[in-house]
Amino acid sequence: MILYLPLTAVMQTLLPMLSFDNTENAFAYKTDKELRKSKFLFKLINNNLLVKIGTRLTPIAFKLHLPIKAVVKSTIFNHFCGGETLNETLSVIDKLAMFNVGTILDYGVEGKQSDEDFDFAVEEFIKAIKFSGGNKNIPFLSLKITGIARLKLLEKIATEKTLTDSETVEWNRVKGRMHRICKNALENGKSMMIDAEETWIQKPVDDLVEEMSRFYNKEHAVVYNTIQHYRHDRLAFLKTSLQKAKSGNYLLAVKLVRGAYMEKERARAKKMNYSSPINADKTATDIDYNAGVKFCLKNINSISFCVASHNEASNMLTAKFLLEQQLSPNHPNVHFSQLFGMSDHITFNLAKAGFNVTKYLPYGPVKEVVPYLMRRAQENTSVSGQMGRELNLLKKELTRRNN
Ligand SMILES: Cc1cc2nc3c(=O)[nH]c(=O)nc-3n(C[C@H](O)[C@H](O)[C@H](O)COP(=O)(O)OP(=O)(O)OC[C@H]3O[C@@H](n4cnc5c(N)ncnc54)[C@H](O)[C@@H]3O)c2cc1C
Repeated sequence: MILYLPLTAVMQTLLPMLSFDNTENAFAYKTDKELRKSKFLFKLINNNLLVKIGTRLTPIAFKLHLPIKAVVKSTIFNHFCGGETLNETLSVIDKLAMFNVGTILDYGVEGKQSDEDFDFAVEEFIKAIKFSGGNKNIPFLSLKITGIARLKLLEKIATEKTLTDSETVEWNRVKGRMHRICKNALENGKSMMIDAEETWIQKPVDDLVEEMSRFYNKEHAVVYNTIQHYRHDRLAFLKTSLQKAKSGNYLLAVKLVRGAYMEKERARAKKMNYSSPINADKTATDIDYNAGVKFCLKNINSISFCVASHNEASNMLTAKFLLEQQLSPNHPNVHFSQLFGMSDHITFNLAKAGFNVTKYLPYGPVKEVVPYLMRRAQENTSVSGQMGRELNLLKKELTRRNN
């Protein structure tokens, strides 16, 4: 149901309330001790040399079976992940829900390449869907197609070369896995957010998500594709996706991101001498991202979307556009999401003002989520700039509480 509210009244009430500077709301879910622990962790991550050494040595230490699990688990793992098992994630999910924040469950195991591993992953996804079945605080689950399909197969399909008979059988097995996952999601009233990956494997991912959307997104947005706005062709892709959805009579569901593989994309394009798929600069990416948000809001009856971003301006713009269109802040087709352990100032302030917000919460054995944790550490160094933001907010809240 779409709620239409008097524009000026809603904007006058909600927008002044929405400030990402409010650290009291942002960290209300953390005790003083937890805040100090987070501050300590972000201070460590601020040390570029430590991160450089840590991100190289941690995966090796796990391979050598060195006893580092307890240290990793009690620090970076607990900060960025929900637990090792589904049951362990429950206390985090419940705590987030107390502050009106939902959860996107992410089975964080990566880098597998055998059919056996893929079938195991499918069983894990189905377990997670059933686990979240009766829990309204878990509206979404996230899935990487590379978690259920071989990388080399995806690469070959992306080049549009003819598949061998056994590759065709293999690809049909991947489709079968997706059907099982989506069917279970539909039956349990959940939505699957499919991650976007590198351009050289993205085409089969897009095609697969489109095929599943045609099938499952009839009354409810069961499958979400991901649009990476650092790609200069994605705004056009978003528009074409909507045309296809309209003519195919299904709902388009998309997660809007800027994109996580910029350096890798540019380096490959340079090395292999093709034109980079990435926008020329950050401003161009920001313009495309915000245009994507506006496009989705203009077509809100046909698109369900999620602003998956830590960018304050994009989150604020979405909130503002939403209210300008006289839509309710908790419109069922508009969602916001940030990673667990980051940008609480955006998440909890949006939630407090009544918007639909979720945290992306990875879980899995500590050893298996190490690649995810290493990416978070690298993203939060002082080089990338994100660390400064997180650390300053934590310091600000500790000072506020002590005064
Ligand atoms: C819930 C959630 C789910 C996500 N899922 C995915 C996913 O499925 N696939 C995926 O790829 N990423 C995903 N991401 C990561 C996302 O793509 C971004 O890397 C990350 O969120 C940083 O972008 P931002 O919008 O938060 O903010 P910002 O910090 O404002 O933007 C940083 C981003 O801008 C872009 N950028 C930076 N410099 C330049 C430049 N010089 N030229 C062009 N562009 C530039 C890059 O994409 C960079 O990551 C997800 C993020 C979240 C929060």
